[in-house]
Amino acid sequence: MPQYDYDLFTIGAGSGGVRASRWAANLGARVAVAEERYLGGTCVNVGCIPKKLFAYAAHFQEDFGDAAGYGWQPGKASFDWSTLVANKDREIARLNGIYERLLKGSGVEIFRARATVVDPHTVEIDGKRATTGHILIATGGWPVKPSIPGADLAFTSNEAFHLTELPRRVVVVGGGYIAVEFASIFNGLGVDTSLVYRGPCLLKSFDADLGRFLGEQMAQKGVRVLYQRNVTRIDGGGVLKSTLTDGAMLESDGVMFATGRAPNTHGLGLERAGVKLAPGGAAIVDEVFQTSVPTIHAIGDAVDRMQLTPVALAEGMVVAERLFGRGERKISYDNVATAIFSHPNVGTVGLSEAQARDRGFDVAIYRSTFTPLKHTLSGRGEKVLMKLVVDKKSDRVLGVHMVGAEAGEVIQGFAVALQCGATKKQFDATIGIHPTSAEEFVTMREPVV
Ligand SMILES: Cc1cc2nc3c(=O)[nH]c(=O)nc-3n(C[C@H](O)[C@H](O)[C@H](O)COP(=O)(O)OP(=O)(O)OC[C@H]3O[C@@H](n4cnc5c(N)ncnc54)[C@H](O)[C@@H]3O)c2cc1C
Repeated sequence: MPQYDYDLFTIGAGSGGVRASRWAANLGARVAVAEERYLGGTCVNVGCIPKKLFAYAAHFQEDFGDAAGYGWQPGKASFDWSTLVANKDREIARLNGIYERLLKGSGVEIFRARATVVDPHTVEIDGKRATTGHILIATGGWPVKPSIPGADLAFTSNEAFHLTELPRRVVVVGGGYIAVEFASIFNGLGVDTSLVYRGPCLLKSFDADLGRFLGEQMAQKGVRVLYQRNVTRIDGGGVLKSTLTDGAMLESDGVMFATGRAPNTHGLGLERAGVKLAPGGAAIVDEVFQTSVPTIHAIGDAVDRMQLTPVALAEGMVVAERLFGRGERKISYDNVATAIFSHPNVGTVGLSEAQARDRGFDVAIYRSTFTPLKHTLSGRGEKVLMKLVVDKKSDRVLGVHMVGAEAGEVIQGFAVALQCGATKKQFDATIGIHPTSAEEFVTMREPVV
């Protein structure tokens, strides 16, 4: 008789939890997973996937406008929010089904309920207890609202995907990737959009040129970008009145807070079981994601290293391999490429200019801004930014950054080059694809700094 009911009990069937559970089951472990809300977690239900579908929807308005310069005369366009939401929900239901089938197909038992930790080998689900050799905390994160008067009148990204009506005017608060993506979505869908950010430059954790340039491009597309201001209170029932730190007041029909996310570790019984948490609630883990309790591991947004789906997946595989495989898999957080699906897109991999300087590199900076071919005829005035950060001593390319259409698609390939330690000479020796925007990355010859 096995000592425990399961070898692994995963709490949370999001990106990391599903991957770790399936991987562990495929390695022969007896696995169960508990999910209290939705299979697939944040990414599938209220994150990456619906967000990108909305971003596509929001881009059509520009596409219709751009067509005129190419001789097309599209009819009068109209947009129906409820159709978009219903179609998005249908696609997500399909993905939920796929996740269920994947888990069941791997032999993972699914509990559709909240689970908590009772002790290092016991979990509680719906009042019933189960014993397990190991527990994996994969509970993700949750949006945080600032505590200001009227904060409950505002919504977060969670609710943004299910608004019954599209607001006519919206105030988005924040300067990170979720804020700029939603400001772009609302603006593209024809909503009068203000973006209020307390800092001087958007996207503060990325290369400063990206945030500065993106802010200019978004403003040019019609987003009212208000820097160095914050919302101090929200009043009203129908029309919302947001008071800003400079005393100004913005009227809108919706206020969205995109002011950060906190690890979803509250009330899980972790402290009681002896798991140490950081002040913000993140589970403290070592390089193989073990917490202060040897039988309890934690991954993904619950440990708050890099809040990205592919990172949660990679961390999940490290844990499964460590517990039930050969334990050789490791994860490196260097050169993790990421994209922001604002309009225009941002794509980035490697070190920002400031990070490179902070780490003591003597850097050469290559930067180019230009009008992409498409917009010569569309007359849109949208520009592209490309930037390379190069270590002068070794000639290695340390960072590749872009603002422009499909930046994520472009940067993914450059991430492989950086992972291989590509030098600027190798970039220069690469023959470009013409005519593309991406070819600029292999034709920038003169450093600007
Ligand atoms: C608006 C938005 C856009 C995003 N866009 C991108 C993007 O474009 N690209 C990208 O890489 N990342 C994106 N992310 C981040 C990405 O979604 C997360 O990094 C990723 O989902 C983290 O995976 P996870 O497994 O840690 O947690 P999650 O996917 O959040 O899964 C955690 C799961 O645990 C469940 N749970 C929590 N507590 C319990 C409990 N006690 N019992 C049972 N179940 C529980 C939750 O219901 C949830 O389903 C986005 C996030 C948001 C909010």
